[in-house]
Amino acid sequence: MTAIPLGLPEVPVRPIAERRVSQRIQVGPVAVGGGAPVSVQSMTTTRTSDIGATLQQIAELTAAGCQIVRVACPTQDDADALPVIARKSQIPVIADIHFQPKYVFAAIEAGCAAVRVNPGNIKQFDDKVKEIAKAAKDHGTPIRIGVNAGSLDRRLLQKYGRATPEALAESALWEASLFEEHDFRDIKISVKHNDPVVMVEAYRQLAARCDYPLHLGVTEAGPAFQGTIKSAVAFGALLSRGIGDTIRVSLSAPPVEEIKVGIQILQSLGLRERRLEIVSCPSCGRAQVDVYKLAEEVTAGLEGMEVPLRVAVMGCVVNGPGEAREADLGVASGNGKGQIFVRGEVVRTVPESKIVETLIEEAMRIAEQREKDGASGAPSVTVS
Ligand code: SF4
Repeated sequence: MTAIPLGLPEVPVRPIAERRVSQRIQVGPVAVGGGAPVSVQSMTTTRTSDIGATLQQIAELTAAGCQIVRVACPTQDDADALPVIARKSQIPVIADIHFQPKYVFAAIEAGCAAVRVNPGNIKQFDDKVKEIAKAAKDHGTPIRIGVNAGSLDRRLLQKYGRATPEALAESALWEASLFEEHDFRDIKISVKHNDPVVMVEAYRQLAARCDYPLHLGVTEAGPAFQGTIKSAVAFGALLSRGIGDTIRVSLSAPPVEEIKVGIQILQSLGLRERRLEIVSCPSCGRAQVDVYKLAEEVTAGLEGMEVPLRVAVMGCVVNGPGEAREADLGVASGNGKGQIFVRGEVVRTVPESKIVETLIEEAMRIAEQREKDGASGAPSVTVS
């Protein structure tokens, strides 16, 4: 076999930026901040009082790679369900509290791994801080101060006229200072806005003014396509400056989709080991194969693969061989055939109808070998 130079750049193994120095908190077994890997979280959409449905959704989220899950707690029935959910969930559960301070205490008592409070939405919150700080400290429960543009404190709305980055950051820091007065610093902060430009600026200001770990989120980001773009842009802008310790992608879509997007964002930024990566060309007038279909079929065939694998799928022989070189596995198509590459060498030439199954076969072989070797690395598949 002849080694063919393919020219694909190496997958970066270092993260995109030095992480901002932040203090570390523990959300159950998951460390957040202080250089801990950026975690991915989501929120259930079930009624929390429906324990079975909530635990089922948490199990699905866990299987998808979710590391922390938040559950809403708007009623006493929901609060009553928290002890069982917190105990049976395989990942740490954060109770999300609005309006009623009594549920903050219930969540802490229930053994939730953390409690999210929205100061703008909790009546007489400021007066309750002393008691909340004491209960949280006694139980070792961190608090997320979750400021949201849609429910900003009235005082700050009056001061700034609207939810500006300054208003969001000031709101969060004001609430944090109330906890600090009671010697409580087991805190993480979010300042969410639906506009990525405002959100990014709010987090930048916050990052410069405190060392609390930051939970990134674009709130009400929209349906899957728009929300994915907004979140990727906003998180990319922040994480590329080292800002952000845990992320939640908010989509008007099933929560498992949020996890997939969140993981992909971290992988793209080099903040998480890349798993299956399909490097496929956009196709053009030179394509001699249906690249979209091929890329989709290969992606579907390799879904769930745990071993890092980079697969190049290229539509013709013009750039195909070149682009497949750095991939673990690749195909360059032409004349009704596909040249299959492994590590830049042509290992087989197969008819077009056999390309997908051959790639999957070779991918499995590579995965098996890697598992045997105990090696890891960036997976890549190139389809041209
Ligand atoms: S690899 Fe070939 S088909 Fe794909 S975009 Fe490049 S030139 Fe076009």
